Amino acid sequence: MYLYNTLGQKKTEFVPHDGNKVNMYTCGPTVYHFAHIGNLRTYIMEDVLEKYLRYSGYDVTRVMNITDVGHLTSDADTGDDKMLQGAKREHKTVMEIAKFYTDAFFADCAKLNIKTPDVVEPATNCIDDFINMVSALIDKGYAYLAGGNVYFDTSKLDDYYVFGNMNADDLEVGVREDVTGDDNKRNKTDFVLWFTKSKFEDQALKWESPWGVGYPGWHIECSSISIKHLGEHLDIHCGGVDNAFPHHTNEIAQSEAFLGHKWCNYWFHVLHLNDARGKMSKSKGEFLTVSLLEEKGYNPLVYRMFCLQSHYRKPLTFSYDSLDNTAKAYDKLIKRISSLKADGEVDKDKAKEFDNKFREVLDNDLNTSLGLTAVYDVLKADVNDATKLYLIEKFDEVLSLNLVQAESTEENDLDAEIESLIEKRQEARANKDWATADKIRDDLLARNIKLIDTPDGVKWELIN
Ligand code: AMP
Ligand code: ZN
Repeated sequence: MYLYNTLGQKKTEFVPHDGNKVNMYTCGPTVYHFAHIGNLRTYIMEDVLEKYLRYSGYDVTRVMNITDVGHLTSDADTGDDKMLQGAKREHKTVMEIAKFYTDAFFADCAKLNIKTPDVVEPATNCIDDFINMVSALIDKGYAYLAGGNVYFDTSKLDDYYVFGNMNADDLEVGVREDVTGDDNKRNKTDFVLWFTKSKFEDQALKWESPWGVGYPGWHIECSSISIKHLGEHLDIHCGGVDNAFPHHTNEIAQSEAFLGHKWCNYWFHVLHLNDARGKMSKSKGEFLTVSLLEEKGYNPLVYRMFCLQSHYRKPLTFSYDSLDNTAKAYDKLIKRISSLKADGEVDKDKAKEFDNKFREVLDNDLNTSLGLTAVYDVLKADVNDATKLYLIEKFDEVLSLNLVQAESTEENDLDAEIESLIEKRQEARANKDWATADKIRDDLLARNIKLIDTPDGVKWELIN
């Protein structure tokens, strides 16, 4: 499989460090609010990646953290803790907020057929691990105490900007905040590993540490949780592209300083979901959630399909018009599939041929939109229904769109049959096989179904 690796900024062959085993880490949600559908785009695409790695035969272990402490309102080290903001907003405790939004996150994931990672670890479970890692970084000379906080010293690294040309907006996150923010830092890119002092006094969660009562910085949690569960070598680390800098850059800095060797080989970043106002973000106040889509009558899997229709490395713009188009396509697809009858034997040779085509497009940097096309190709193929069902069910292990549904209604059967005959007639016409095309039209007419050719394609109606 070839994947675009942010480290090195090119498509490279994916080779795990230990044969068949893949260690995969995902930055989990900051649970101070509902996940918006932008966050969920990232988790959908990571889910496809995980499932496709499994489909390809890898033995994947996937770990995700839950950020329930330390993520400040700026991705650098200033502002309020987002969790505290959530607690104030809702007049609850931080732990109540964390529990409520963690459950809400996994409920959304379930609706979108996103598999729960093998290990899910809240940051507040691992405070001792963070303290051990910070202590080791101080011992190794990579961290220093200043003004009561512990900082990572980025000047100790040969190359801090490991991802190269980050775009200027991303780079500003760290730099801007630092310039106005924190006089304790020796270098503008240094970042906090452990806070005892910050601009705000009322941090709800605090723990004893060798440096005083305080709480961990955000970045340390992902390094520490990953190393705790997946060991010293990580194959692939995922997140939304906004995480690349400073979060992932800082994760690499502290993990490699701690381990003394290269830590993670592949960095998989999903581009943002935008709406008319730009990047969808929780801090902007209004944002779209899965529940809101459901209230408006959309099946959450339509949103999953909407995401799969475009490549994860392209920004995706959300609009209800586009979602409506996907909803229509999804309905049509389900109807066509539900009209298939599992009769006869699966044609193993043909199945292999189509499966290879499916793998070929996903092997090419997870091209999910061509993965969906592969489903349509199967539907059009000259193979029996049993083979079609077998293949579509298999592809759906990765796509997870519930393509093969248990029951089909009679009405669905009729719709699907007519759609398929219309398609055959179009093919016949394209091949100038007028006899076949006319016969299909006449047979349908004999059943009181009239085809109407329009500039938008062929429509049909029942006549009396
Ligand atoms: P958060 O809950 O803010 O920690 O973010 C959870 C995940 O969603 C992270 O991997 C982010 O990079 C990602 N993310 C945030 N905003 C967007 C967006 N508009 N589109 C896609 N992914 C996003
Ligand atoms: Zn992270």
